[in-house]
Amino acid sequence: MIPEPPRRGEPGGEPCGICTGEAAPPVWSDENWTLHPPVGGSLPGTVWLASRAHVDSFSDLPEVAAAAFGVVIARVERAILSLGDVGRVHLYRWGDGGAHFHVWLVPRPLGMLEARGPMLPLWETVLPNVPDEELAQAARRVAAAMEAAAA
Ligand SMILES: [Zn+2]
Repeated sequence: MIPEPPRRGEPGGEPCGICTGEAAPPVWSDENWTLHPPVGGSLPGTVWLASRAHVDSFSDLPEVAAAAFGVVIARVERAILSLGDVGRVHLYRWGDGGAHFHVWLVPRPLGMLEARGPMLPLWETVLPNVPDEELAQAARRVAAAMEAAAA
């Protein structure tokens, strides 16, 4: 479809869920980033990291946030791995849904080799959703592990 419809947060599109507070409240934050649980998902331990600045993509991030990105992703990844039974942590930046910069960190269950690489997001969609509270609880454990590692 050309022209493409506006994404959330773009003029003419739905409002930005992060800026309007509609998105799931963060379980962790610092001066550059907020970390959120998913709503409606099948893999507990999944979280999404959003920039505080309302920008579209990597190229628009404030330099300080761009420089901190790798450090904060490593903290989140270690924290997700510490939940246990995680084979690898996948990192995705799609950007087709909302115009606000965010990336997804999704744990691939240990031993679930059929979900390697690009198969994981497909499995994530096909597997039955778990209750949102379970997703939020796992995200809070990720946040707690980040804080514990920093202490
Ligand atoms: Zn926003």
